[in-house]
Amino acid sequence: MTPELSPAKSVIRMDRDTRFRATDNPFEEMMSRFDSAAQLLGLDPGLYQVLRHAEKKLTVSVPIIRDDGHIEVFTGHRVIYNSARGPGKGGIRFRPDVTLDEVTALAAWMTWKCAVVNIPFGGAKGGVVCNPSELSVGELERITRRYTSGIMTLLGPDSDVPAPDVNTNETVMAWIMDTYSMHARHTVTSVVTGKPVVMGGSYGRREATGRGCMLTSQAALALLGIPVSTARVAIQGFGNVGSVAADLMSKNGMSVIAVSDHTGALYNDRGLDIPDVLDWTKKNKYLEAEAIPGADLLGLECEVLVPAALENVITSKNAESIRAKVICEGANGPTTAGADTILASNGVFIIPDILANAGGVTVSYFEWVQDRGGYFWDEATVNNRLALIMNRAFDEVAHMAAKHQVTMRTASYMLAIDRVAEIHRLRGLYA
Ligand code: NAD
Repeated sequence: MTPELSPAKSVIRMDRDTRFRATDNPFEEMMSRFDSAAQLLGLDPGLYQVLRHAEKKLTVSVPIIRDDGHIEVFTGHRVIYNSARGPGKGGIRFRPDVTLDEVTALAAWMTWKCAVVNIPFGGAKGGVVCNPSELSVGELERITRRYTSGIMTLLGPDSDVPAPDVNTNETVMAWIMDTYSMHARHTVTSVVTGKPVVMGGSYGRREATGRGCMLTSQAALALLGIPVSTARVAIQGFGNVGSVAADLMSKNGMSVIAVSDHTGALYNDRGLDIPDVLDWTKKNKYLEAEAIPGADLLGLECEVLVPAALENVITSKNAESIRAKVICEGANGPTTAGADTILASNGVFIIPDILANAGGVTVSYFEWVQDRGGYFWDEATVNNRLALIMNRAFDEVAHMAAKHQVTMRTASYMLAIDRVAEIHRLRGLYA
């Protein structure tokens, strides 16, 4: 098989993130949490209007020549939701059911996420309506390059900085960086993050989201007065986020008693040997174990539960059975609004996704800083700076929650909206 004809599946990993897909209007679904936080903050009605609208939405045609010689036209979107705090930041996804509404919702979500951890980025998102599993590598590259040239007016280190998302990865980021650089007539590494380390990527990026989960879980345990040495952890999902969280949590003194992936779950009430489990998955890819049924993991008695696989796994149907003291949302949107209410009344402390999994975007910010400075940090520096940002953000959200007597989720939205609104107030309205 020539490289040109090898399936795109060989360079990208299919993802299962279906956040917002089940809803009729993904943007309104996203903004319902914004609305309640804005109300609690007493947000000025004019600013409320500003923050409820995306700044820029661009839809482009992406015509390419398929391998058999015929022309096919795909559709791509890029939305910059808000750039008051800095350049747009957010991933690009390739999926057959990408819609402008979904991209807008995710761009808004990135705005609040960057603001919670207080990094100088606004929110953006992009996507191309295509099915990478039906494309060759060559076709995928042509789509990427044509889409990049279509949204070129938005892109730039000072205006909009994409990253990998569903079905895109560092190879796709390298193509985007190269296309942009060809137009700029010089190499511009800082136009995307999530690049290979050899071409301006950052050490620590791969582990950053799992590390952020470990750090925020530690902070939650400290706040609740639970010693780390007595903390039992159950982790759903053993991919990038879950396996790194398991590794770091066990290295930092917690006892990881259960892990699962889509093939099954492992359980040992005295703690699993995580290096052993990691060795196994390195060789065999999946856990392929069934010490307990995977679904039972969520109901285990433990101090910290980390859903790090899919969205909507903790619902009003199973929330009563949750016996964890802390839920650290490694995945995006694992808890439904109905479950939130039940968990809050049962006293479960939730570290919301917008905070718990913001380690990834924080190290993306570090990558952008290093590219712009042309000076690269060692891994220890990246990790220390990540810890400073995650711990500070956790404390600020916890402070907001205590001050307004609200959940950590509501507090994280309030903090984020307040930060974006403050910049709008200071900058005023142009013209
Ligand atoms: P991944 O594809 O590397 O891993 C997903 C894991 O979930 C796999 O181990 C898979 O087997 C498992 N899984 C799938 N279905 C399951 C089921 N029914 N029960 C138990 N396990 C199941 O993905 P990832 O990068 O680790 O991302 C996980 C989640 O975290 C997603 O919601 C993603 O959007 C979110 N997230 C990831 C990052 C990041 O930097 N990777 C950043 C922010 C948020």
